[in-house]
Amino acid sequence: MRVLIIGGGVGGLAAALALRRRQLPVAVYDAAGPASEPPARVGPGLWLPPGAMQLFERWGLAGAVQGAGTVLERAVVQTAGGEELWSVNLATGASFEAPSVALSRGALTSLLAGRLPAHVLNREATCEGFSETEEQVTARLAEGTEVGGEVLVGADGADSGVRRRLFPSAAPRETGRVSHWGVAPAPTDDPSEQDRVLRDLWGKSARFVLLPVERDRVFWCAAQRASRAPRPRPNPDDAKASLADDYAEFPGPTGALIDATPAEAITRVELQDLAPLDQWHRGRVGLLGDAAHAASPALGLGPAQAVADAYALALAFDEHDAPEAVFAEYENRRMNKARRVQRRSRQLGDWGHAKSAWAHRLRDTALRLAPAAALRRTLFS
Ligand SMILES: Cc1cc2nc3c(=O)[nH]c(=O)nc-3n(C[C@H](O)[C@H](O)[C@H](O)COP(=O)(O)OP(=O)(O)OC[C@H]3O[C@@H](n4cnc5c(N)ncnc54)[C@H](O)[C@@H]3O)c2cc1C
Repeated sequence: MRVLIIGGGVGGLAAALALRRRQLPVAVYDAAGPASEPPARVGPGLWLPPGAMQLFERWGLAGAVQGAGTVLERAVVQTAGGEELWSVNLATGASFEAPSVALSRGALTSLLAGRLPAHVLNREATCEGFSETEEQVTARLAEGTEVGGEVLVGADGADSGVRRRLFPSAAPRETGRVSHWGVAPAPTDDPSEQDRVLRDLWGKSARFVLLPVERDRVFWCAAQRASRAPRPRPNPDDAKASLADDYAEFPGPTGALIDATPAEAITRVELQDLAPLDQWHRGRVGLLGDAAHAASPALGLGPAQAVADAYALALAFDEHDAPEAVFAEYENRRMNKARRVQRRSRQLGDWGHAKSAWAHRLRDTALRLAPAAALRRTLFS
């Protein structure tokens, strides 16, 4: 059964690897060019919790993934004033059977692409539509080429064109938050033991996340309520200055990281998510990763969810032959968890950007007292 995968991001590439391990013929079509950076709308840094790393372990890729990024020692949530609200030791053996790894999106997608034979991954191949008969599905690529297979998987991200054609009413919705992000050299005054820490700083209506994606480089992400975030400005230097002002109350590395990032390399995005869908497939066509269940990036679990989808889809192909049955099995394995992540990401986003002082205090107290096991289950499984 030949599988066409539209989209060669984390989800599409992981699915191609997982399906090829089950001897299924696969072809991936990605709109981006060979040397291009990941899509500008998604952040260039990501983390893989133990659950995702266990899947890479099964695929024989855990060592390479760890080598391409930073094995995290701790995750910490702090107030903007520096008070620690919550912290977890991420060392393998402490509570987890696998490490958590932070890395750049480009490093992960290059690594995954490098494990596929060259003929499998087709770049600069934008899918513009598809049609289905009883026996097969045909994808129409830009410039008029057509490619055929028995199954088509839309792994084309949060703004999926495959999803638009399957379920036209399922459009992304605004979260009311804006995010700026960039990558900067790690601040030199950072104590070395903090180099492997995922740090999440919560202020009044604003968050700042630091992720050490390489040995000496930090991905940072500043999320604010849209009503309080700097307006888009034609001059990047003005936008950067305004962002730095907004984060002036945040501790040490925050200002240094914004300062060290070239103004034109700071990306501003209005964050969206997708309301949970009742179905991720119709006929021979199904959705995977953000195309199926884009969540607000508040929990940072999107890449791990896409990897879990890839694994579940491959298992479903083991158990069934008919495309409808494969997709039904895959949804059965994945839909509840993905919906939970969508819901919690949205809640955490709202919570992290609470408006009033009493809501901040309530939020900080709740986090201080939150049962560690529940937080671990949400974030790290
Ligand atoms: C605004 C935003 C910001 C985010 N920021 C972060 C972050 O900072 N850190 C983090 O961990 N996660 C972040 N996420 C979530 C994370 O990016 C995703 O959950 C994760 O990348 C899912 O992978 P995916 O493969 O499903 O989609 P994507 O990584 O989006 O990959 C989709 C792929 O499809 C291709 N494509 C799109 N349209 C077509 C087409 N018509 N034909 C062919 N190919 C096509 C694209 O080129 C791309 O390679 C963010 C998501 C959004 C929407």
